Parts: sequence; C-alpha cells; structure tokens
Amino acid sequence: MFNKLLYSILGHSNKKIGIFYICTGKYSIFWERFYLSAEKHFCPGLEKQYFVFTDQEIAPKGDNVTVIPQAKLGWPYDTLMRFHLFKGIKDQAMKCDYLYFFNANMIFLKDVMPWHIFPTKEEQIVVTRHPFYYEGANGAPFETDPKSTVYIDSKDAKWYVAGGLSGGIAQYYYELGDKIIETVDADLKINHLTPWWDESHLNYHIAHRSNYKILHPGYIVPEDRIDNFPFKVYLTVLDKNKHGGHEFMRH
Ligand code: UDP
Repeated sequence: MFNKLLYSILGHSNKKIGIFYICTGKYSIFWERFYLSAEKHFCPGLEKQYFVFTDQEIAPKGDNVTVIPQAKLGWPYDTLMRFHLFKGIKDQAMKCDYLYFFNANMIFLKDVMPWHIFPTKEEQIVVTRHPFYYEGANGAPFETDPKSTVYIDSKDAKWYVAGGLSGGIAQYYYELGDKIIETVDADLKINHLTPWWDESHLNYHIAHRSNYKILHPGYIVPEDRIDNFPFKVYLTVLDKNKHGGHEFMRH
C-alpha cells in the first residue's frame, strides 16, 4: 500500500522492468533462489519480465519468465558475449522501461526499490562499485595490455565497477551494450581476451563516460563477507566453492 502510493507519487507505477539472466550449463542451479528472491525484493509490486538465457530446464517458470534457448558457448564466452545475447532479443526487451543484468549466483536479501536503482534520464545507466575495490580505481584490475581496445590506465578511471550487476533505461542500456559489443568483437578479431572478460570492457566504457548512476558495493557482496561489510547489504553473491568451485561450474 505504502509502496503503491510512493510509486504513484514518483511516477514509477506503470514502469516495467526487464531482467536479463544467463544460466547456461551448471549455473541453472542458481535460478530458483534468484527468481524467488527477486520476486520478493526487487521493486515489489512493479511489473517484471525475466529473460532467461539457458540450455537447461529451469523451474519455477512463472508467467513473467521468458526462456531464450541458448547453447553454452564455453568459458569465458558464456559471460563475455552477454551483450551479444541481449541484442538478439532487443525487440522483446525494448518493451520494458528499465533493463538489468544480474550474475546467476546473486540473491536479493532486502527490498531494492526504484529510488535505489533506477537511473535518472541524465544518468541513463547504472553500475555498481566493485566489492573488492570500492574506494576507487587505484590498484583495480583494469585491462593494461596496450594491444587491447579497452586498454586503460587506472589513473584515467574514477571507479572500478562490478560486471555482475548493471542496467539502465532500456534504450541507453542497449546503447552501452552496442559499444561493448564493438570492443569485444575488436579484441576477438586479434584473438585477445581481457583479464576480467565483460567486466574489463564495461570498465573501459564507464571510465570514458561521465553520466551514470553508481551504486555502493552493498548490492553485490560475496556471501562470506556479509558480516561486517561496511555498507548495507541488499544483494549477495553465492559462493561457487559451495557448489563445486569456479572450474567445475564453468566447464
Ligand atoms: N555463466 C553461465 N554459464 C557458465 C559460466 C558463466 O551462465 O558456464 C554466466 C552466469 O550468468 C554467471 C556469469 O556468466 O553469473 C559470470 O560468470 P562467473 O560467475 O563464473 O564469473 P565471476 O563473476 O565469478 O567472475
């Protein structure tokens, strides 16, 4: 009731949110907990549509879940090519007002409301300070190989952002995606892989723009760091070591 009134006052009532979720191969084990937590805590009461890219059977599959059959591309392409996948369903996704991507192993712990996560028209997109480098760009693992299209000197960046959560007003999120597709393709042409794949590309493009909303790192906190994390924790990242580890999960 209270949310409804606030949504209406702030002009959010009829906004539709699209959620991109990739879970090829073993990552599909995370779907249920992500979906149930998002249904409960992600802008409760607003319309949400989930676009799930997967080669697995997933459950639950509510009316607001669209499964996009997607073969496993192999590591690291399952993560690196994410904006290429999103582009493939642009017509459907553009029916949403806002679009967000969450890593598969994330879950919502607290209500995340429009006023937390919607960028303004001027900001256009939203990114998140990385939970390991939230004080600034110094010492963060940018792409430092000059042959990469997304080479960057950390002195030129203000923040290091996490690849696991980004989003924005639909049109602008796709515009960012197009820029990322361009640099990913250019690097692939010279057989170059960035150190943190899509995250390296995202960071390059963020460092080269001035308008974005930046969330504090409490929206992407590793499970084992929730206690004593110096920010309010809204979403956590489940520990893949409890599910066989990175190598096992990715291959
Ligand atoms: N992913 C996937 N299948 C895979 C590997 C990765 O669907 O076999 C997707 C999934 O959405 C995952 C994201 O790519 O959350 C990023 O991969 P990962 O979590 O392994 O990277 P990290 O965040 O640990 O660097």
